[in-house]
Amino acid sequence: MISVEQAKQHIKASSLVLKDQKLPLSDALGHVLAESIYASFDQPRFNNSAMDGFAVKHESLRSASPESPVRLTVAGEIAAGDSASHHLRDGYCIPIMTGGRMPEGADAVIRVEDTSGFNHNGEVMFFAAVKPGANIRLKGEELRKDDVVIEKGTLITPSEIGVLATFGRAEVNVAKPPGIAIISTGSELSEPGESLKPGEIYNSNLSVLSSLAACVGGTLEFTAAVRDIARDLKATLNQAFSCADIVITTGGISEGKYDLVESILQDLGVQKCFAKVAQKPGLPLYFGTKPNQLVFGLPGNPVSAFITFLIYVAPAIHQALRLKPEPKLQATLAKPFKRDKKKHRFLFGHIYEQDGKLMAKPSEKLGSHMLSSALGKNAILESPAGNEPLEAGSAITATPLPWLKPF
Ligand code: AMP
Ligand code: MG
Repeated sequence: MISVEQAKQHIKASSLVLKDQKLPLSDALGHVLAESIYASFDQPRFNNSAMDGFAVKHESLRSASPESPVRLTVAGEIAAGDSASHHLRDGYCIPIMTGGRMPEGADAVIRVEDTSGFNHNGEVMFFAAVKPGANIRLKGEELRKDDVVIEKGTLITPSEIGVLATFGRAEVNVAKPPGIAIISTGSELSEPGESLKPGEIYNSNLSVLSSLAACVGGTLEFTAAVRDIARDLKATLNQAFSCADIVITTGGISEGKYDLVESILQDLGVQKCFAKVAQKPGLPLYFGTKPNQLVFGLPGNPVSAFITFLIYVAPAIHQALRLKPEPKLQATLAKPFKRDKKKHRFLFGHIYEQDGKLMAKPSEKLGSHMLSSALGKNAILESPAGNEPLEAGSAITATPLPWLKPF
């Protein structure tokens, strides 16, 4: 039996090497950047107006006030997108719209609200003075050409999509999501929609893990439910290995007479790394490798399968995507957390803010067969082994659940 930390280290050391792929920008949301993005030009690209107003030389409006307005002659007009270049002469002003390119010779924009307006007969009255540089967005003030704007390994959210579009990127290199195969094992399992015979239960793991795989950035390549029959399991695993980078089974991995997964994985040439971790839930947890493939044998109990997926499989998927890991949070327990005397303990929990403090309430249902303990929860809480429960008010480590990312 190994510790949680050792198990994590083993998985970290067995990383997958996956190809990158080029995607159109419109499909890139939720993927992870496989290239750093550099500014391909100064941003803004040219000095432009931040307001609808008039481009002026600030000197010409030095004495302007509501009581003694200054009059200037209008010369031309600049709308956003106009490509003609303009030159402003002394005594003149040029109407300019937000985003319009600043004319040569102007050093400020005065907003239209401080003037007699755009309806003019060749002359405009100005009711206020303006500071040099006012209302001008300067070339390169936001980003300089060749600056690193987004680092490799960043999750592409609407913010990244926006900045990629700003620099005209129609395509982007992203990490190819690892292909996932999920196989549930158990002769007692029936699929939702079927009727249950005595002794049967519905297969929840397949649905939970399939949706989790999508939540954490994998591509579901293969799913199957198999009875505890060696021949069937072997054939199904072979199919999984032929199409997936990460093969995940649930059930059949502990000491039962019909727990066949480990021996069949061995027959199929999987290199076993470990099969037991000092944790609750999820003591029977198998991890092995084939060349550039990872194999996780998760326990059958629904809470164990769910939590071990989040604690071990999700980070392996993120590592394959080269996604930067998110830090865990420290919260304050609002209710006691029942530790295990010998094993690292994980529980679903609810984290929330109260009076500026991050609080955590562990699930009250402790059984690893009680899947409803996940309802309404937004984190996994965890504590190393210990004789006494952690009392309310103690610190607890929380990992937020990744429902929305990568998406
Ligand atoms: P096992 O690890 O195969 O011994 O299964 C442990 C417990 O989890 C048993 O009570 C199983 O019936 C239950 N179980 C196994 N697989 C599933 C599944 N896919 N969905 C729901 N419960 C399961
Ligand atoms: Mg079983």
